[in-house]
Amino acid sequence: MAAAKRTPLISGNWKMNLNHFEAIQTVQKLHYLLPKDVYETVDVSVHPPFTDIRSVQTVIEGDGLDLILGAQHCHFQDTGAFTGEISPAFLAKLDVKLIVCGHSERREIFGETDDMVNAKVKAILKHGMTPIMCCGESLAEREAGETEAKVLGQVQAGLAGLSADQVGSLVIAYEPIWAIGTGKTATSADAQTVCRAIRTAVAAQFGAEAATAVRIQYGGSVKAGTTEELMSQPDVDGALVGGASLDPEEFARIVQFAAG
Ligand code: PEP
Repeated sequence: MAAAKRTPLISGNWKMNLNHFEAIQTVQKLHYLLPKDVYETVDVSVHPPFTDIRSVQTVIEGDGLDLILGAQHCHFQDTGAFTGEISPAFLAKLDVKLIVCGHSERREIFGETDDMVNAKVKAILKHGMTPIMCCGESLAEREAGETEAKVLGQVQAGLAGLSADQVGSLVIAYEPIWAIGTGKTATSADAQTVCRAIRTAVAAQFGAEAATAVRIQYGGSVKAGTTEELMSQPDVDGALVGGASLDPEEFARIVQFAAG
């Protein structure tokens, strides 16, 4: 199932950091640091805050950069009385290609449920974009031996009602909550075990083709020093990177390790 590895995807989740001036500088610096041929073996996305997206889109398109434009979140409705929310249709108009959904910070702080995540996955696909659907266990769940039950439950709920083709086209990010922004990372062997369990569950529900195609990232305090070993795992297809993606030099090193 993991014989032919998928093109890795390294995604920088900037969270609520960098205003639009800083975002432009960061993207330009990242582009300058990355050799052109790196994009032959790795996909690289940046996920700025909403207020930066138009500026970053202009730089990516105007300067012909190979970086992929992403967002961190969206609503599941196209329009309506949802003060402060962001329509997936509007993000598609800005040429956003990848949208993170179900990040543990959105689940914990903003009360996103599995049903909402599932609705977002469908809305993102409907508008021709790709979801990066996050899942992951808390420290208490890990210590209680409930990692796989929690993660696979989130995956099953998030993918409910999708076709095998749709599942094969998307990205799942395994992000143990205790490793996000804490400096603690899962060992590459642990990351592989959970990513393999996710792929096996996808195969059982949607078939071998979808399981072979779906890209599964690891996220949680990824740094350049941990990338190579992580990427050598057969079921790990990239990384969702928070803190380290704010520093173009560190992020560029991560991308280069992932490119091999
Ligand atoms: C994240 O934002 O999804 C993340 C994994 O953050 P960090 O790399 O800082 O742990």
